[in-house]
Amino acid sequence: MTLQRFARFAAGAAAAVVLPLAGAGTAAAAPLDAVELYYDASGLPDYQAEATQAAANWNNSVHNVHLNDGGAATIIMHETTGGGSYTTTDGHGSGDIYIDTQQVAEGNDPTRIIAHEIGHNLGLPDHYEGPCSELMSGHGPGISCKNAMPDAQESAQVEANFANGFVTVRLPEKHIYR
Ligand SMILES: [Zn+2]
Repeated sequence: MTLQRFARFAAGAAAAVVLPLAGAGTAAAAPLDAVELYYDASGLPDYQAEATQAAANWNNSVHNVHLNDGGAATIIMHETTGGGSYTTTDGHGSGDIYIDTQQVAEGNDPTRIIAHEIGHNLGLPDHYEGPCSELMSGHGPGISCKNAMPDAQESAQVEANFANGFVTVRLPEKHIYR
């Protein structure tokens, strides 16, 4: 089921693409506006403030892509219980994020989890062996790690991923925060 869901989202991603060009048909050298992404956190009733903070952390760290609450959302957040938090995403601004309430109850920081899963939606892979200062180290540094900000390298990678507007980045598997 997961694979099928993913395939559906991957296929849907192409149709969801919005060209963020400053002017239609401008030359490649023309500066691009930030890619505006829209997320829907209404499915996270218990983590509204955390979702807002996680998005703000990314917005304060990168310029080539900007996360907005509401609108025609392509990043949809949901709560789930058990099994770990994860996302199914095309790695470029479209996906579903599932936050495991049980994992939060165990002591994992929800803002960090949400920011981590957003990171996947912005094209970053897991790096569990990394330190707490990295968002994509996920559960790796342990539940005492509450950092919800991307580090400089992660921010730079996302900047690169969105430097030319929408490009094809594929994360071919479900990324589980555990
Ligand atoms: Zn992950």
